[in-house]
Amino acid sequence: MKALIIVDMQNDFMPGGALGVPGADKIVDLINSLMTQFPLVVASQDWHPSDHVSFASSHPGKKPGDVIKVQAQDQVLWPVHCVRDTFGAELVNGLNKKQIAKFFHKGTDKNIDSYSSFFDNARLKSTGLGEYLKSQNVTDVYLVGVATDYCILYSAFDAIDLGFSVSVIAPACKPINLDPKDEERAFAAISAKGGKILY
Ligand SMILES: [Zn+2]
Repeated sequence: MKALIIVDMQNDFMPGGALGVPGADKIVDLINSLMTQFPLVVASQDWHPSDHVSFASSHPGKKPGDVIKVQAQDQVLWPVHCVRDTFGAELVNGLNKKQIAKFFHKGTDKNIDSYSSFFDNARLKSTGLGEYLKSQNVTDVYLVGVATDYCILYSAFDAIDLGFSVSVIAPACKPINLDPKDEERAFAAISAKGGKILY
């Protein structure tokens, strides 16, 4: 059984949003058409409290792009984005939400970020996505959405670790590319771990 996982296609990640990913609005139509080819479609949403640890504003004197240590791991600081129950956290208009069977929230704990749609960055708490997919007898997952170099990358790693066969549909993903080579590095890392990149 195959499932399509739509990662973080939210207003704040669209161009002009709080943490806009270039071109993210251009993949909505492609994702809509991909949905019709899968028996099961799920979506994740970044869903933060307003004082989340990943926000530069939560750390006096810090600015977006700075890196701090959280639970002994590097944490990039971002502008305030995807605050739960706000417009910025809503899935983007135009995405065919009727095709989405279930939604999973990530980054809900104030003290830890969650790039992956499956677990927080310390892997202490599950979002429930892995358990749900297994309960639906899913064996193969296909990832689309944003951002390739963060949430797609770590979702792919976790899906592989959970035993799923993992494919990333490259034309239906967009990177942040803080460094212009980040997308390329993400695809290489996913491939090296056993995932497939579909072009
Ligand atoms: Zn976030």
